[in-house]
Amino acid sequence: MADTKYDVVIVGAGPAGLTAAIYTTRRSMKTLVISKDVGGQMALTDDIENYPGFESIGGMELGQKMQEQAAKTKTEFLFSEVTDLQKDGDGFVVKTVDKKISARAVILAFGLTPRNLDVPGEAELTGKGVTYCATCDGPLYKDKNVAVVGGGNSALDAAEYMSRICKQVYLIHRRDTFRGEQVLVDQVKAAKNIEIIYNANTTAIKGKDRVEGLSYETLDGKKEDIEVDGVFIEIGHVAKTDWLQPLIEVTDRHEIKITKDCQTNVPGVFAAGDISDITYKQAVISAGEGSKAGLQAYRYLQGSEGLGPDWTPKKK
Ligand code: NAP
Repeated sequence: MADTKYDVVIVGAGPAGLTAAIYTTRRSMKTLVISKDVGGQMALTDDIENYPGFESIGGMELGQKMQEQAAKTKTEFLFSEVTDLQKDGDGFVVKTVDKKISARAVILAFGLTPRNLDVPGEAELTGKGVTYCATCDGPLYKDKNVAVVGGGNSALDAAEYMSRICKQVYLIHRRDTFRGEQVLVDQVKAAKNIEIIYNANTTAIKGKDRVEGLSYETLDGKKEDIEVDGVFIEIGHVAKTDWLQPLIEVTDRHEIKITKDCQTNVPGVFAAGDISDITYKQAVISAGEGSKAGLQAYRYLQGSEGLGPDWTPKKK
């Protein structure tokens, strides 16, 4: 037996989940957002300059603004981890570590999880100098030396941000060209205290109780050790959707398969944002996808017959 019944349970409180909540609650659907944090990956970004309406805003601040807006329209929040989703008659049961919550519809918007480097020392030194979030942990490395691993926007962002805090930043990338935006590449190249090490694979992170260094090997076989106090791993993200199996269909990248209206293979379950198989993973796109999922959940619960093209109920 479930504890409480909601019209919609939304898993995740990033831009997709929070926007979905703004839309569902504005249509008077009793909505619960379950999440481990607020803002998701966006909250880990120091400075967002491509979200329309804000020339520059901290990711955490934007996430908090979205949460405040969702709370104003009576969204309820539960800070917990969802561990299971099952069908239950016409609806669903969403399980957290210690609760069972009943929902008529579910929106999955829990984003992606940082990818591990999988080298010796990484697991042992995580939280002891190995980190996956420059915005959260960066200030702890004032005037120290750090390495950033990766070659996409996240690594470039992290290297540029850390260069303003640290004495020396090493940016270690396994190829000789970056995957990120040119404006970020130019900023990184212009920073005097960033040394870019191209064509290099990290082979180990070293240290007894804390990170003391990093070993890498270049494509031409040269092995090097550098002394660093911190290692920022910024090599992309993975979709952790194993807990949804076998109910929800996913791609070979484990992203949730959706239609253009955010429907999954199970009627009544929708997905939005980075965890779905959309091409571009951006905060503004996730917000838009969240609104679509919210509208589609409304349509599902009302029955499509009752709705006009602008998604308001037809006047009788
Ligand atoms: P990403 O674009 O997938 O880039 C991952 C980087 O890590 C790639 O350079 C990749 O190398 C490298 N990598 C992957 N696995 C590796 C491994 N095992 N060892 C070493 N290097 C490895 O991921 P991201 O940078 O986290 O960005 C994710 C998404 O968020 C992107 O769409 C990005 O545009 C967006 N984002 C945007 C901003 C912004 O707009 N300012 C900021 C942050 C993130 P290869 O290049 O060799 O594959």
